[in-house]
Amino acid sequence: MPSSPLKLGKYSLGVGDRFAQQAPAQLQACVLAQRAGVEVIPVWNKSNREHLIIGSEPSTVRAAAAAAVKAMNWNKPWHVDADHIRLETVDRFIPHSDFYTIDVADSIGKPAAPEAVKAFADRHPELIGTLEIPGVQPSVKVTREEVERVARKYLFAAQEAGVIYRHIAKVKGEGKFITEVSMDETDSPQTPTELLIILAALADEKIPLQTVAPKFTGRFNKGVDYVGDVAQFEREFNDDLCVIAFAVKNCGLPENLKLSVHSGSDKFSIYGPIHRAIKRHNAGLHVKTAGTTWLEEIIGLAENGGEGLSLAKEIYNEAIAHMDELCGPYASVIDIDRQKLPDAATVAKWTGPQFAVAVRHDPRCGDYNKHIRQLLHVGYKLAAHKLDRYLSLIQSSSGLITSGVTHNLFDRHVKPIFLGE
Ligand SMILES: [Zn+2]
Repeated sequence: MPSSPLKLGKYSLGVGDRFAQQAPAQLQACVLAQRAGVEVIPVWNKSNREHLIIGSEPSTVRAAAAAAVKAMNWNKPWHVDADHIRLETVDRFIPHSDFYTIDVADSIGKPAAPEAVKAFADRHPELIGTLEIPGVQPSVKVTREEVERVARKYLFAAQEAGVIYRHIAKVKGEGKFITEVSMDETDSPQTPTELLIILAALADEKIPLQTVAPKFTGRFNKGVDYVGDVAQFEREFNDDLCVIAFAVKNCGLPENLKLSVHSGSDKFSIYGPIHRAIKRHNAGLHVKTAGTTWLEEIIGLAENGGEGLSLAKEIYNEAIAHMDELCGPYASVIDIDRQKLPDAATVAKWTGPQFAVAVRHDPRCGDYNKHIRQLLHVGYKLAAHKLDRYLSLIQSSSGLITSGVTHNLFDRHVKPIFLGE
């Protein structure tokens, strides 16, 4: 008898760990959620971009996760996500990942063949006219021209996702892995109507999609709060959930299909709206919160003083000197005002607590500096250049760092999103 396909749980948390040191501290956030009565499945994600920048191998992500799972007797599922992969980058992840985030953002806007666009609109008369999507008010009117416009923009990307999915399936076997398609790292957000048309196109490719990451309205800058119209976000997020339920019913997509929010961490002002929406619609959710674990390491180093603080300052100084190079790969997800970055001479005088307070994301604190935080967020490459020294100092600050990582994930992310606290 064929085994049933690998299925992602209703609530899941994508955690990133640049230097593969914090898996136990991250898993502890899921343990605390379990104790509070909510199952949150851990997914360790690391993108090809991060591996290239650090010079690490995908096998290390699985090894660190497996060790934490074993040491902590975690007896629920857990996964390893090949995050933001493409056809040319996926292969080295295949032995080590059971979750694939197929990134087709770069294919958005590349034109599909005109016959394919016409065939898509012919195949989907149900997308044209007044759509009665339960929960979406008022009902949406969609013309054939609109379907063709969206298809011209997204059909090629959906076809590309199909090619990558089938490439992975050929090696791993169908049903042996979880598939996400991401379109978040692009300039223009997708409306709920566009999402519906995109889902129909992904269903046409026969991708057993379990999570989908659209680009939401507003800015999702790395490690800092949401920038945008929270009320509009809440409306569209609710509509997206309704669109997903509708697409599951009408396009034959897996019944556990859910939204994936590539949060970039710390989107505190929209966690309340997200929690209310998933409760209202009894919807599942995957949230990725990757890079703040590295920031907790920097904060822990600084707080520990001595050599740790010196290293934190050194990394900051180098980050200022190499700003363009560090920020380039992250241009669509950071907004740094150079005028607000203190110079090396100023930072040299800071105590550990002063450095920590500037980096730690506490919006009520006047000394918190979101420009420093974003710059350090993308500055992890600099620690990779002095890895031995970095890792040994991390070890000596491990108590502070471990509690920082768990606290950040559980109290600031899991609680507001999944527990509604
Ligand atoms: Zn993303």
